[in-house]
Amino acid sequence: MPLFCDVALAVPLDMAFTYAIPPGMEPVVGGRVLVPFRQQRMPGIVVELHDRAPQTKTPAVKIKNVIEALDLSPVLDEQLLKLGKWIADYYLAPVGEVFRTMLPLSAEFKRAITYRITDQGQMALHLAGLAGSPSRSQRTPEEQLVEFRVLDYLAEREDAHEARLRSATRVSKALLSGMVRKKWIAREDVSAARDAARTIKIAVLVSAEAFSEERTGEGETPSRQPARRRRYPAKLNDNQRTLIDALAASGGRVPVDALHGLDVPSTTLGTLVRRGLVELVDEPQGFTASKLRPRRSPFEFEFNAAQKEALATILSGVGSREFTGMLLHGVTGSGKTAIYLAGMREVLEQGRSSILLVPEIGLTPAMAADLIQVFGDEVAILHSGLSDDERAEQWHRIKSGEARAVVGTRSAVFAPVSDLALLIVDEEQDSSYKQEETPRYHARDVAVMRAKMAGAVVVLGSATPSLESYYNAKKHKYALLELPDRVEQRPLPEVEILDMRQEFQETGQEQVISRKLAEEIRERLEKKEQVMVLLNRRGYSPVALCRTCGQTLQCKNCAVSMTHHKREHKMECHYCGFIAPVPKKCAQCGSEYVYFVGTGSEKLEELLHGMFPQARIGRLDRDTVRGREDFERALNALNEGELDMLVGTQMIAKGHDVHGVTLVGVVGADTALGLPDFRAAERTFQLLTQVAGRAGRGNSPGKVVLQTYFPDHYAVQFAARHDFAGFYDKELQFRSWMHYPPYSAVANVIVRSEKLDEALAWSGELGRWFEKTRHEGIRVLGPAAAPITRLKRDYRYHFILKSPSREKMNTLLRAMLGEAVARKIPRTQIIVDVDAVWLM
Ligand SMILES: [Zn+2]
Ligand SMILES: [Zn+2]
Repeated sequence: MPLFCDVALAVPLDMAFTYAIPPGMEPVVGGRVLVPFRQQRMPGIVVELHDRAPQTKTPAVKIKNVIEALDLSPVLDEQLLKLGKWIADYYLAPVGEVFRTMLPLSAEFKRAITYRITDQGQMALHLAGLAGSPSRSQRTPEEQLVEFRVLDYLAEREDAHEARLRSATRVSKALLSGMVRKKWIAREDVSAARDAARTIKIAVLVSAEAFSEERTGEGETPSRQPARRRRYPAKLNDNQRTLIDALAASGGRVPVDALHGLDVPSTTLGTLVRRGLVELVDEPQGFTASKLRPRRSPFEFEFNAAQKEALATILSGVGSREFTGMLLHGVTGSGKTAIYLAGMREVLEQGRSSILLVPEIGLTPAMAADLIQVFGDEVAILHSGLSDDERAEQWHRIKSGEARAVVGTRSAVFAPVSDLALLIVDEEQDSSYKQEETPRYHARDVAVMRAKMAGAVVVLGSATPSLESYYNAKKHKYALLELPDRVEQRPLPEVEILDMRQEFQETGQEQVISRKLAEEIRERLEKKEQVMVLLNRRGYSPVALCRTCGQTLQCKNCAVSMTHHKREHKMECHYCGFIAPVPKKCAQCGSEYVYFVGTGSEKLEELLHGMFPQARIGRLDRDTVRGREDFERALNALNEGELDMLVGTQMIAKGHDVHGVTLVGVVGADTALGLPDFRAAERTFQLLTQVAGRAGRGNSPGKVVLQTYFPDHYAVQFAARHDFAGFYDKELQFRSWMHYPPYSAVANVIVRSEKLDEALAWSGELGRWFEKTRHEGIRVLGPAAAPITRLKRDYRYHFILKSPSREKMNTLLRAMLGEAVARKIPRTQIIVDVDAVWLM
């Protein structure tokens, strides 16, 4: 057995730590160990086993021992370890923090080991009290004293946590183990016990046959019922029947949780149990599928020619067992999702694994239901609503091979599947794939790398691919699969651009809803058709302005103005969440002339209510949507015709099929064009294209009215013409001139501190270091105040690096971090964001 192991710990230090392996312990590479670190015990991942004695500065410092090996086999297999190291290297992130992100097992780290005294221990304690010595043993008097202390301590209480016991009695691990061997005390691993106890309640129909369908009514059944019905043994009300029918239809056994979806009062089940018709039993979790329909049903996909061709290309790539990158570019409504699911099912049938990544908001309960229908209980669904325990549960299902089709948001790219054949990134341009905290990885790019390592196919799907991906496809790094038509040949909607500067001139005042848009909305409402209106800013008004002194109300933690939320009667910072009362007078000059300026989605809803009092209007933004269920409920209401109009932020633009919408109004989607961010045009084009795609997905053709203050901007013009290729060419020109991606690698380096002088001094020092360091071909801009100069209490200065060679850029960044260490600038105060998505 090797003598040492190098362990990656989740601390902000770019290194692994060496520990000695005590005799008899067998840690594995890729497995977890518990180690002492700065007066704490910390779990970490073993990255290497070796016999090289580490060099310590003072020879007297003894290398510390591993406390416990937590895994017998790796939790990160060779490929995932390699992927983690690649991420650490590419994004300049501490490797331990990368591994922590990859493993959703933090709940298991909170292991609790407890001790209690046994009868034999009680006896020993008693004898010690009589004889003055715990037992005839080879232990030293000091050790016997400690043993006595332990027994005495445990005799006073039910049980004790290991950590607490050890600090109270200063007992050594070895002595404790000896006492366990003598059976004086019992050791219990509470986390292991909890695992075993993790059961789920199942409702079982007492006699399934008794409820089978009968042609005639006999026995105690109420006789007013029509001929064909179930035979019920006793009088049941409607709710009780609904529940029993659901149970009978699913083979008589359903998890209690799943019955909550039935819309019967929670007391109904209790009544049935009391009457002896239903029994509740505990079963170990994981043995039962937790859905009403666990088996997959034969699901037939109907494809047009382009879809068939795309699927065939994907599957032939899968068959080759070699890395292939593909970009699936399909206009909105062209049926990409069906291709993903068909491809994944084929992979599943071959006994191999697949992963589908979807953007945050894309994973709705309806989508989950579809997935279960297609994949049965062989699918694992990973979304942000899962608790730590549920996440760990899913991880184990995947690791064990029970679930080989994985669907999830960003971090699902790390799902521990074996024999990965197909990795799909839906809406690959979506910014939710970029993690905005350490490690700042982009799940799309990690997916490509993982597919490379696994010899798998990666499919990037989008109606509006990112510039980077489309560029790669044009350069033949990826195969380009095009779906040029909407399903059933539905036409793309007509887009009318409305110049709001002209509207202002003609009406003499700032308008939110133009006359033209109002007229179009009225027309649709009269025809009983549905309308969506996009305003990409939540809240009532984005600015509170004093008319006397001109001050705006700023967040106390950030250099941004606070947004007025009228219904909740508060001011909120949309960057840090800080909440303040609505000001009655100016904090600066005391004047009472505080005005709320500008329009957010809340005010837009109010305005539309005023204009169309008869219309039923719903709103979709982060204030009305707390979870995916809310999101889905609003869309369902629209789908079912319970709403005439839906207003909201970009949430309403995300890929969902609502057939009755024939008009989309865009009243504020171009504000990004005024921001100092090189991706502004791309983002605006994508948003406009997506929201336009919501119109006319049913039988009536759709129309889009696009209000803008930038009618001549190419992002607006090309979006109005549904001309992706045109936009792409124009935008590439700009990127090439400005040395931005895909022509250069870009990194944003932020130096931050709660103290302004520190942020200034540190960024100044690094600035001078960049100046005198040779960095051929790399452009370093800054230091400059970041566009948001203060955020979450930190003052922020930044550098932007652009380099045609990513390797050289990362070398320079690594040297810069080394310099920062030398200058004692804390690592946590420097954010290195490689391939930054936001430069704000
Ligand atoms: Zn004022
Ligand atoms: Zn704030």
